[in-house]
Amino acid sequence: MGSRRSFRSRAIVLDRTVLGEHDLILTLLDESGEQRRAVAKGVRKGKSRIAARCDYFCESDFLIYQGKNLDVISDAASIDAHHGISVSPEKIAAAAALCEIALLTSFEESSDTFLHPILSRALTAVEQASDQAHLDLAVAAYAFKVLAHSGWRPELGGCASCGDGNVLFFSVAAGGLVCASCAQTTPDSEPLAPSQVAWLRSCLRLTFDELLAAPIDPDTALFLLGAAHAWAATQLSARLKAFEFALSL
Ligand SMILES: [Zn+2]
Repeated sequence: MGSRRSFRSRAIVLDRTVLGEHDLILTLLDESGEQRRAVAKGVRKGKSRIAARCDYFCESDFLIYQGKNLDVISDAASIDAHHGISVSPEKIAAAAALCEIALLTSFEESSDTFLHPILSRALTAVEQASDQAHLDLAVAAYAFKVLAHSGWRPELGGCASCGDGNVLFFSVAAGGLVCASCAQTTPDSEPLAPSQVAWLRSCLRLTFDELLAAPIDPDTALFLLGAAHAWAATQLSARLKAFEFALSL
């Protein structure tokens, strides 16, 4: 009786699941990096004043009541709705690919303060991207950065198998860049141009500001997106449908 706790959560909407006729279950990435599920009641009726703050990719300040089974959102204030994403299907696809990775790299009752700021920045990068190449680059860089942080850092210095400095191939199975000799015994190794090697390193090393300002051609950006997809799908052992769709555009 009156003992239900309420708390605030500044969070990004990663996913929405239909619950009954009127409600949605939101999967949120909290500022602490925790993944959290909460019911948004009445938001599918079109009358709820918080419906707009519960949309995909929205960053909102939620007031949440602890329920018996599921927590319930009682209020929400907008922090950043990332309106610039909805201007094109390509940007929506890119943002969906980001949230798909965020869903698989964050967990309930497990905080990690790296996760929320980088997703927020990547969503803004999707809004800011001036062309398809920079959109692809932003998604690839986010995937590589988050996976590297989560313990799946590709070896991009010397050969992942023998340490040789002359790396000309990329292999997910070997764990990163490989030399010509090791590539012969690594079935999935893909030959790379020196510029592709440099760009793989840039995905991890450069900030989103630097990446958005860097000139990149569409083929190189698509290569990076493909490499990031292969890396993420393998390390996370998951079918990444939203990422696949972004890759198909
Ligand atoms: Zn080698």
